[in-house]
Amino acid sequence: MTKQIYDFSEGNMKMRDLLGGKGAGLAEMTNMDLPVPHGFTITTEACHDYQRRQELSEQLLAELDQSLSALSRLTGKQFNGSDHPLLLSVRSGAAISMPGMMDTILNIGLNDQTVIALAELTSNERFAYDSYRRLLAMFGNVVDGIPEDDFDQILTDTKIANNYESDLDLTIDDLKEIVAKFKNLYENYDHGGFPQDPKEQLLAAVNSVFDSWNNHRAQIYRRQNNISEDLGTAVNIQEMVFGNYGEDSGTGVAFTRNPSTGKEGLFGEYLLNAQGEDVVAGIRTPKPVSVLKESMPILYEQLLDIAKKLENHYRDMQDLEFTIENGKMYLLQTRSGKRTPTASVKIAVDQVNEGLLSKKEALLRVEPESVSRMLHPEFEEEDLRQHEILTTGLPASPGAASGQVYFTAQDAKQASDNNKKVVLMRADTSPEDIEGMIVSQAIVTSRGGMTSHAAVVARGMASTGVVGAHELEVDYQKKVAKVKNQLIHEGDWVSVDGTSGNLYLGRIKTTDATIKGELSVLLGWAKEASKMGVYTNADTPKDFQKALDFDADGIGLTRTEHMFFKPERLLQMRRLILAEDAAGRKDPLKKLLQMQQGDFYEIYKLARDKEVTIRLLDPPLHEFLPHDEKEIEVVSKQTQISSEKLKDRIDSLKESNPMLGHRGDRLAVTFPDIYEMQVQAIMNAVVRLHNEGVEVSPHIMIPLTNSKQEMAWVRNLVVKQIDRVSTENDIAVKYTVGTMMEMPRACITADAIAECSDFFSFGTNDLTQLTFGYSRDDIGSFVPAYIKEGILPVDPFQTVDTEGVGELMKIAVVKGRKTKKDLPIGVCGEVGGDPKSIEFFEEIGVTYVSCSPYRVPIARLAAAQAHIRSVVNEPQFEKV
Ligand code: PEP
Ligand code: MG
Repeated sequence: MTKQIYDFSEGNMKMRDLLGGKGAGLAEMTNMDLPVPHGFTITTEACHDYQRRQELSEQLLAELDQSLSALSRLTGKQFNGSDHPLLLSVRSGAAISMPGMMDTILNIGLNDQTVIALAELTSNERFAYDSYRRLLAMFGNVVDGIPEDDFDQILTDTKIANNYESDLDLTIDDLKEIVAKFKNLYENYDHGGFPQDPKEQLLAAVNSVFDSWNNHRAQIYRRQNNISEDLGTAVNIQEMVFGNYGEDSGTGVAFTRNPSTGKEGLFGEYLLNAQGEDVVAGIRTPKPVSVLKESMPILYEQLLDIAKKLENHYRDMQDLEFTIENGKMYLLQTRSGKRTPTASVKIAVDQVNEGLLSKKEALLRVEPESVSRMLHPEFEEEDLRQHEILTTGLPASPGAASGQVYFTAQDAKQASDNNKKVVLMRADTSPEDIEGMIVSQAIVTSRGGMTSHAAVVARGMASTGVVGAHELEVDYQKKVAKVKNQLIHEGDWVSVDGTSGNLYLGRIKTTDATIKGELSVLLGWAKEASKMGVYTNADTPKDFQKALDFDADGIGLTRTEHMFFKPERLLQMRRLILAEDAAGRKDPLKKLLQMQQGDFYEIYKLARDKEVTIRLLDPPLHEFLPHDEKEIEVVSKQTQISSEKLKDRIDSLKESNPMLGHRGDRLAVTFPDIYEMQVQAIMNAVVRLHNEGVEVSPHIMIPLTNSKQEMAWVRNLVVKQIDRVSTENDIAVKYTVGTMMEMPRACITADAIAECSDFFSFGTNDLTQLTFGYSRDDIGSFVPAYIKEGILPVDPFQTVDTEGVGELMKIAVVKGRKTKKDLPIGVCGEVGGDPKSIEFFEEIGVTYVSCSPYRVPIARLAAAQAHIRSVVNEPQFEKV
């Protein structure tokens, strides 16, 4: 068996896996000649060995004896010594930090004799007994499971009886009495007394730290943070230094920069005359570390100097633990400091400007997903704590918003017209609800997944959205929703967190979203460093403008059906669908043409020289028709068609599986005049801009293509229309006509389809739906269970399934480019904005991704990281 204990002088920061983060940090600081108390680390391998045999091995016990002797020589102190007692701290530390989840015991080595020796040696009896009572409480709790509260109660009773305000008021006699009472507690709990032998204390402490790897809170923390169960913890055994020695001693925590804002300068807190746990436990209020500047200026300067050295050495913001003993500074820990997204971006950019990091390294330091938190309002933490979570759904569209609940789009619209802040709450949404969705602060549905209508529309509009909140039962008749036993009536205030998926009763204050200067600098670097383009999915000039503000490269997907949702357009669309023949379709088509060409004109004007890809109509026709009696009456009046006839038509268009039915280019084949009208509208906008001196090259995209024959048929229709309008207006228009890749069959026959397609764009929403056979609107009822049971690692509609859907994509890329070497290939389904998926897309050679406006910065950063990593992974690249 390999060595199980390393002296701090033998380790270094690269040995994290073996020594844990804390052990590797202590070793590195020792090697840097920083003031670290002597000590050694028992390895994580020894932890595995202990977990297997459930006891400390002979080898470990032997190495422990040697290390204790060496420590004794180094410090000139003896474990169980009567002159200079050696006291130890025993602290856990895994390779990945799990703050506070595992155990620590301080002051090991004190007993009824050594406490007297310590008192004499230091001429500080108070300090000696204060340390002893701390050991008794920590050891009792960690090793013997005696409740912490029992020890606290004894302390509190003493303070109350003597009218003390703080632990510092306790006298030597009080402390002696407390020590006696603490020892009695052991007897009460039938633990046979506190072990007086320091060695027995140490072995019990090491066992307990190893055991604490498997305590409940550590297990939960690992599960939540995706930390492997196999890591195990190391144990750090170190000579104690004492912050509770007196008024020129203390203990504290400092970050080398502000972890909340990222601002430069030491940030932290300390307590005089205290040991580490006092800072965390909040028994006394710590002082900001800046106060040290006045009270102990030399030590403050030393701490500043150490902080700078460590940050330069690790090239990252550090979180330090320090103790001052008798006016002398000691370092007990250094690790990468946890920070807010804002701080993370500012620190990365500042460190490039300071010459500490390269731009590429800085780009790899920021978690792409965390950027989203900087782009949306959030609930104020303080206010949020006062509210209980009512229920949780899928976090469909990030942001935080409060509003009064309405259950129909009409009611929501009316309330909004009356200046109310509105939350639209429904079982699900359909295109008809768009007006209500537009005016809502947030949208909540009880059904649907991350690519359901409500989710896609909410993200597109940058509204806060929570979908698939199963516990919510919506009763439209009674205008009430129920969660467990809680009723939500129309007009009640709720608060919706689209980032966590949580729903709360009542109003919660929000903080404003701001884009910091550093974020735009970082995103600029990301653009330079990435290979993939980042486009947006935008259906309106407003969405597009938002995406342009985030520096999108253009539009990768305009879902034109979203342009038909406004009431006046819906009416014309209904007239079109309900018309008996081509003659009857003429007038509504003319009106829709007028409207659509205006939309396209606005979008092209905004785009300037950026590419815009417009997808022709996709959803099933029946989605545009009224659903209930009341609405049928209204439409009947508007269209002058009897309600009976209307109902017949609705019935005739109804489909059992609309997602697999009459949509996409199937509509083009059966209703060619709709696509013709759309192409005409695009071309009219192009001609108008040409006349204004702006040349536009339209990119037209066909949805749901299955075969070369189908694509050729629809392409022919589109090209004919483009040519006709071009000839009529005597202009030469450069254009492309491409297809979405969203059918498994299309992927498999991509070489043939590429013959008549100028580009591909993966519609991964449909491709995932059809590859898994999961209806994308109904996954809420089973996918969460699949994830919980470990059958699915994640929701495949949010992160691409590389094994199945990804394989089909690879086939399509390879086959498509076999036919056309430089075929541009995009991804415009929801996973186009997902960092993990983007890494995969970089691998398979995708040209660009397209996502909702608010995900553009996230995708940009992810694209840069994917490219930087892919270059690092290339064999010719020399790793540093
Ligand atoms: C897709 O299927 O991934 C896609 C982008 O199209 P839609 O979501 O509109 O079906
Ligand atoms: Mg699709």
